Amino acid sequence: MIKYMNKFSIVGGGFILALSQMAFFPASVWAGGEPQATDSYFIEAQKTLSRKLARKPNTAPARNIILFIGDGMGVSTVTAARILEGQLKGMAGEENILSWETFPYTALSKTYNTNRQIPDSAGTASAFLSGTKTRSNVISVNQNAVQGDCQSTQGNHLESFLELSEKVGVNTGIVTNARLTHATPAAAYAHSPSRYWETMSDIPKAEQKYGCIDIARQFVNFSAGNGIEIAFGGGRRNFLPSSVTDGEGEKGKRKDNRNLIEEWKNLHQNGQYVWNEAGFDQLDIKKDGPILGLFNASHMQFETDRHLDKGGEPSLADMTKKAIEKLQGKSEGYFLYIEGARIDHAHHAGNAYRALHDSVALAEAVQVAKDMTNGQDTLIIVTADHSHGFVMTGDVTRGNPILGKVVENDKKGIAKSHPAVAKDGSPYTTLGYYNGGGAIVGQPRSDLSHVDTEAQNYLQQALVPTGYERHGGEDVAIYADGPGGYLFHGVVEQNYIFHVMKHALRLDEKLKSVK
Ligand SMILES: [Zn+2]
Repeated sequence: MIKYMNKFSIVGGGFILALSQMAFFPASVWAGGEPQATDSYFIEAQKTLSRKLARKPNTAPARNIILFIGDGMGVSTVTAARILEGQLKGMAGEENILSWETFPYTALSKTYNTNRQIPDSAGTASAFLSGTKTRSNVISVNQNAVQGDCQSTQGNHLESFLELSEKVGVNTGIVTNARLTHATPAAAYAHSPSRYWETMSDIPKAEQKYGCIDIARQFVNFSAGNGIEIAFGGGRRNFLPSSVTDGEGEKGKRKDNRNLIEEWKNLHQNGQYVWNEAGFDQLDIKKDGPILGLFNASHMQFETDRHLDKGGEPSLADMTKKAIEKLQGKSEGYFLYIEGARIDHAHHAGNAYRALHDSVALAEAVQVAKDMTNGQDTLIIVTADHSHGFVMTGDVTRGNPILGKVVENDKKGIAKSHPAVAKDGSPYTTLGYYNGGGAIVGQPRSDLSHVDTEAQNYLQQALVPTGYERHGGEDVAIYADGPGGYLFHGVVEQNYIFHVMKHALRLDEKLKSVK
C-alpha cells in the first residue's frame, strides 16, 4: 500500500519526500536522494518550500491595517540593514532575517511620479494613500494641480486612505520620527500644492489669498470622522508662534501668532498633549480622547543619537507600541500609518551608519506590531516610498563588517588579512553612494587606509558631488502579511497599495452604509 503513496510529509521536519526512494538511500540522503540533501541550506530551503505549499491566502476582511513606510529604504538598504542587525547580534550577518522578511507576500513597487522618473516623498505618499499617482512635491492633490499654485488645487483634492477610514468609523493613527508636517505624514491628512507649506509664512503672500492654509493648521483642523485618534512625531516649531520658546529651548516658527498646540488642546478638551519622553511614559492610554505627541522642534533624533535628546524621545518601536495600545482600546478597527523617516535623511547626508541603524529601528517597530496583533485580522504592510543611490558592492568575504572596507578572499576562498585596494592604491568600503556629500570636487578620493569607516559620522565615498545625496529610481519592495496580503505579488504601481488596503478593509461596503 505504501508504494502507492508517492508523497509523505514528516511532521516537524516539514519535508516532502518521495517515500519510494527512501529504501534505496541511507537516512542521511533521503530527501530525493541528492548528495546535497543533508546540507543545512538545502534543508532550510525544503522547510521554506513546505511552508509555502501549506500556505492558504487569507481572503477574509481585515479589521485593522498597519502601513509601515521606510522612507528611502530601497532594497540595498534592506540587505545592508539585515546584515548590520545580524552582526549586532553576533552573527556573520548575511543569514539574518529582518522582522518583515518573514512576511509571506512581496511585490515590487514602481515609484515614479507623474512628472518625475525618480520621485520625491510627497508624490509617492500621495500615491499609496490615494490610489492614484500625482506630481512630485505636492500633497494629496491630483496631477492637474501645479506645484506652488494654490488656485490649481481647487477641485483637485485626493481623498486619502486615512480620511476614508475616518469617514467610515475606522480609527486612525500616525507615527513618524520626522516632523508631523513633513511630506510623508502630511499626505494622510493635508492637501497642498507644496510639501514646503508647513507653516503659513512658508506660503507666498500671493498664494495665501486663494485660501490655501499651511499643513500644520490642516492637521489641527482635520475633521473627517471623529478625527485622528493618535499622532506622534516631531515638528513642534510649526505649531508654535515665533514668540514662544518650547520645553527644549527652541523657538516656534509661526509668524501668524497662532499657537496651534493650544488650539488643538481647546478643540480636544479630553485630549492629551505630550512633548517629551516623561510625558510619553505617563500617557493615559485608556482615557478617551485623542493623543498628540510632538517630541522635537524639527525632526526627531536619529536612533543612534536619541539618548542625547534634551527632553528625551521615545523610539519608533515605543511610539508604535503606544499607538497600537490606544487603537486596540477601541471597539472598531483601525488604520495606523507609521514612517521610519530618518533612513532617508541619513542617506541624503551620505551617512550609511545612521541610515542602517534607523532601518534596524524600523525592524524593531515592525516586530512590536507583529507581536501585538493577530495575523488573522490585521494586515501589516512594509514598504518604502523610494530608494536611494546607495550601493553595496565588491567581492566581499562572508561576515565582513557591513560598514567596513572590502576584504576579499584569497585563492583558496579564505578571507585575506588586509583590505583590498583599488587601482589608486587605497582601500574602499562595501557601501557607498553614487552622488552626494561624500564626493570631493576636483581631487582624487581620499586614502581610507587609516580611516575608521565604521564610525558613526563617517560619510561613505561618492562619485558625483551633488552636495546632498539623491533618491534612487529602481523599484522598492512591498512586504505583506495578514488578510489581503496575498494580493501583493508581481510588479505593481505604487498607488496599487491603496487599492489592496481598501479591498482588505472592505471600505467600499462601509462607505455605502455611511452614505
Ligand atoms: Zn528624501
